[in-house]
Amino acid sequence: MAGDLGTAVYCELLPISPNIEGIPEKTPAKLVEKRTYQEYGIFWPQGDQEFTPHDRTRGEWTVPMDAWWRQSTLEGVNLTDYTAQWTEAYLNKYSGDVAPYNLDVEDKPENWISGYFFRVLRDLDHSDVADSRMQANLDDFGNLVDTHKALPCTCPGCGVNEQYRAKGSSIRGFRTGFAKTTQLFAKELVYQLPDNAKQRKLVVFSDSREDAAQIANGIERNHFTDLLREILISELHNNMLIKAKIVAVLENGEDANEFEQLHASQFYEVQEAIEDSKINVNDPNPRKRQRREKSVQSIAKIKNRIVRVNDLVHLLNTHECAPLIRSFIQLGVNPGGPSIHLQNIPRSNNPWFSMFDFEGQSWTNDNVEFQDEIKRGTFVQLAACFWEPILFP
Ligand SMILES: [Zn+2]
Repeated sequence: MAGDLGTAVYCELLPISPNIEGIPEKTPAKLVEKRTYQEYGIFWPQGDQEFTPHDRTRGEWTVPMDAWWRQSTLEGVNLTDYTAQWTEAYLNKYSGDVAPYNLDVEDKPENWISGYFFRVLRDLDHSDVADSRMQANLDDFGNLVDTHKALPCTCPGCGVNEQYRAKGSSIRGFRTGFAKTTQLFAKELVYQLPDNAKQRKLVVFSDSREDAAQIANGIERNHFTDLLREILISELHNNMLIKAKIVAVLENGEDANEFEQLHASQFYEVQEAIEDSKINVNDPNPRKRQRREKSVQSIAKIKNRIVRVNDLVHLLNTHECAPLIRSFIQLGVNPGGPSIHLQNIPRSNNPWFSMFDFEGQSWTNDNVEFQDEIKRGTFVQLAACFWEPILFP
């Protein structure tokens, strides 16, 4: 891209050269977040949107055009020597030219898209730092010197400045993750295989050892996340909704026979809570009053359909596995997830599954520290499930 302030054209937007000489060390498919302002131009086609100037001002500005900010620089470049702004501009649909309003635009407005162009100017002489005709922008060999990141810190649509947030810009590259794609294909392919578990085998190829390792890891991780989601949903349905139904049935004095037979443990738990809640508030026995208090709270929780995440993973004072852990155990999957440090009990040759009594669905009291590690693993994955964005906005 070649900046040009003196004449009508700012620059011409062209595809980036793939930099084939750089293969294989410098990958040609460079992420847009890693691009520099000197190689990557950004034009915002405005359409019906309103332009919101960034809220930082130089002196007493009244014209939105004067809104500016200090674009993030590359290492070793002084932030305060440059000014960045969104400049009103027009993009030629056919040539890729970006220009300010001029006679060409006036002549054939149908050939031009109106919008804003992201520019970084040197404070000293107001020249565009991507202008290859300015001596100050070139190194000894006549190449443009990279100074700034390509993605603008501020958004022309809402004026927000993302400079000091994690991503540094509200514009992001968008692509499909490699592992996710493979996992999706692998999963769907496995569904097409015969029901007999022994015949279901899938081999995934890759021509690179590193890719193969990454795919294997990615498939395992994504599969675990999917499992966790499924187990969580079914647990919430089974436990929460059924308990809520049982409370309703018992409180209304309806026939609860069916629940007692199909969901005995939930039924007896709710039944006991309801009985306890009927203890007299002024009972002289403080332990009874305490039980009453506790049961009233737990019934309220059930009615409001509230579940403590902790209760799904950890049960107090018992070796019995909490609901999520139990579901994983039944499937023969490590509840802590695929992380390497959770596969073997530290300082021993015993694998993770020696932590469990599969018959009784309980923890063997082998190693309490490692128990906590596994539970923490489940928690971390759960947290990711709840809060990790599916897309990266
Ligand atoms: Zn925005």
